[in-house]
Amino acid sequence: MSVTHEPRTGGPTLPQERRLVTEIPGPRSRELQQRRTAAVAAGVGSVLPVYVTAAGGGVVVDADGNSLIDLASGIAVTSVGNAAPEVVARVTEQVAAFTHTCFMVAPYEGYVEVCEQLIELTPGDHAKKAALFNSGAEAVENAVKVARVHTGRDAVVVVDHAYHGRTNLTMAMTAKNMPYKQGFGPFAGEVYRVPVSYPFRDGGLTGAEAAARAIDLVDKQVGATNVACIVVEPVLGEGGFIVPAPGYLPALAEYAAANGIVFVADEIQSGMCRTGAWFASEHEGVVPDLVTVAKGLAGGLPLAGVVGRAEMMDSVHPGGLGGTYGGNPVACAAALGAIATMRDLDLAARAREVETLLFGRLRELAAAFPAIGEVRGRGAMVAIEIVEPGTTVPDPAMAARLSAGCHQAGVLTLTCGTYGNVLRFLPPLVAPDHLLHEAMDVLAEVASI
Ligand SMILES: *Cc1c(COP(=O)(O)O)cnc(C)c1O
Repeated sequence: MSVTHEPRTGGPTLPQERRLVTEIPGPRSRELQQRRTAAVAAGVGSVLPVYVTAAGGGVVVDADGNSLIDLASGIAVTSVGNAAPEVVARVTEQVAAFTHTCFMVAPYEGYVEVCEQLIELTPGDHAKKAALFNSGAEAVENAVKVARVHTGRDAVVVVDHAYHGRTNLTMAMTAKNMPYKQGFGPFAGEVYRVPVSYPFRDGGLTGAEAAARAIDLVDKQVGATNVACIVVEPVLGEGGFIVPAPGYLPALAEYAAANGIVFVADEIQSGMCRTGAWFASEHEGVVPDLVTVAKGLAGGLPLAGVVGRAEMMDSVHPGGLGGTYGGNPVACAAALGAIATMRDLDLAARAREVETLLFGRLRELAAAFPAIGEVRGRGAMVAIEIVEPGTTVPDPAMAARLSAGCHQAGVLTLTCGTYGNVLRFLPPLVAPDHLLHEAMDVLAEVASI
């Protein structure tokens, strides 16, 4: 049962190569998996049980010495790469200075600086304020708290295929039952779901038409004057990397503004350069009232934030927002390192290059492999929806087969989507082109089998 603990250097010093020295998962990973099965609750899953010992650039190295191409980034988190030098340096300095005082007890500069950076980077040049939390779900919960206090209203409007987290309120806001909600109710009340724009599946509605359909439902079934906030992901993440048709998001934002409703962009997955801009809202010129951020923010350390209009953020009474660990100093140091890296390397531009590369390769593949119903996404947030050829009937078994084939060949892929039939690609933004091409070669080979 012993597994050696050799010190390993991760980060950009790792050879940027796909290297298989055992089957996947190998013997050491299988050993660890046995220990895990005995000790870790069964409800916590893992996409691929290879046990990681180092990661950096575009690769993840496992306990057997296999080097896998990383198309997951820990679910869009390590956009700057694992163990990114600026993150490591700042975290190391901070962890040696102090690790926690609780910002609500005795504050520190790093928290303030992260808020200043988020204020600068989020869309719009109006007066803004920010607050920091631990997880994406917590950020969404706090955005709702702010919106409710600011408006004095209760109702929360969300869309089909939405994912907002696993806490009680955010489960209610999340669309998909399995695995996120099954058996976990009763859920929070006053959450209303309206149709999204899903161009592949809604018969070619324009963004304006899809928005009109959603707005009509709010008007007739909820009543605009009861709505505190509309919460929407500018590119839907877990729901299937759905990019709403142009005009959908601006129309919802305009409706919100006209009716005193807080428009919240959940940019937890789509933000921080992932889609080729600092925030995905920018692609349509949308200026949200509040933005939630988390995944890409701190290079892998747990940190989340809500940033938005100062008068909304400040409507909450002193002490109404916070938490023991929210804006932990080590996580803030990591965020400052990650943001500096995004600026220095212009990772938004890099995400656009990744988009060009992946779209090119995937469209080529789609021409030869009719199970690919659509190639979509923005920046380095790209997916293929797998269907029965010539139809829109989801084929989750085929998606699972493709993903498993990639795993066996040393490419770490993820699936997503309400129907489980979407294969998504979320490489670290620092992954070199040659690894992305190699991953696409592997996918093409797996598809041809
Ligand atoms: C992941 C995610 C969340 C939840 O974040 P956690 O850190 O897992 O709580 C919320 N919204 C979106 C859009 C996400 O992708």
